[in-house]
Amino acid sequence: MQVLKLGGSVVTDKNKPFTANKENIRRLSMEVAEADAQPLVIVHGGGSYGHPLAKEYDIADGYSYPKQVIGFSMTHQAMVKLNALIVATMLVAGVPAFSVAPSSFIKTRGRRIRSVDLGIVRGSIDNGLVPVLYGDAVIDAEQGFAILSGDQLVVKLASGLNAERIVLGSDVDGVYTGDPNLDKKAVLIEELSIGELEQMTGIGDAVSTDVTGGMLAKVREAAEAVKAGVEVLLVNATEPGRVEAALRGENVIGTRFRR
Ligand code: ADP
Repeated sequence: MQVLKLGGSVVTDKNKPFTANKENIRRLSMEVAEADAQPLVIVHGGGSYGHPLAKEYDIADGYSYPKQVIGFSMTHQAMVKLNALIVATMLVAGVPAFSVAPSSFIKTRGRRIRSVDLGIVRGSIDNGLVPVLYGDAVIDAEQGFAILSGDQLVVKLASGLNAERIVLGSDVDGVYTGDPNLDKKAVLIEELSIGELEQMTGIGDAVSTDVTGGMLAKVREAAEAVKAGVEVLLVNATEPGRVEAALRGENVIGTRFRR
């Protein structure tokens, strides 16, 4: 069992609101089909679909003013739209993708998932389907509502389903000593242990609008998975062939997290 995350930076154009990167989605759907790596669960991020609305209505901070209510629903709806496009493209490529809405079965408390019933996800996998979930606007027991990041969800799914590997597909070759988009001297780290992770200072936020927080947040979530015994690999999903190779368990350029 593997869990594949397709970053918002991969499936959308982060600089253009509500713009999907259809070319990446099409190519990655074919890579998933070619890799033939079932059992598989896919989670995608929001990028320019989810984040602008979440930001405008301060959804991540929880309920504080009435106008947010419609913004909450609009944020979710934007994600539903992006998810529908991704699932439809996967189906055309021959992947038995199946849309599962996180906000319909996951509640957070203080922005974190406490317990989650994975019956539907597990049952879908048992039927040969590839569940496709996403970062979503969810109900929160403490603050009314919250944004559940795709990265937090990936880790929860992987540990709950006893997955062997998480493949995080982003728009960079891996974790660098500094943000490669800002620091040209930053160097790719091919292997990173939890101890090193916790001491790193060069990991930053995403450059463009991202309410759930860029590489730092991603790496923190990934550390939890590694501690639970899941192999985590971060690869550049905007580079053709890397996700396919990672799903096949082949050697690929990226960052491998270890204990
Ligand atoms: P995604 O949307 O793919 O989930 P994000 O856009 O949230 O990913 O985060 C990836 C971004 O994190 C990169 O494009 C990069 O600008 C930024 N980043 C910050 N620090 C680092 C680092 N040390 N190594 C790699 N990327 C970094």
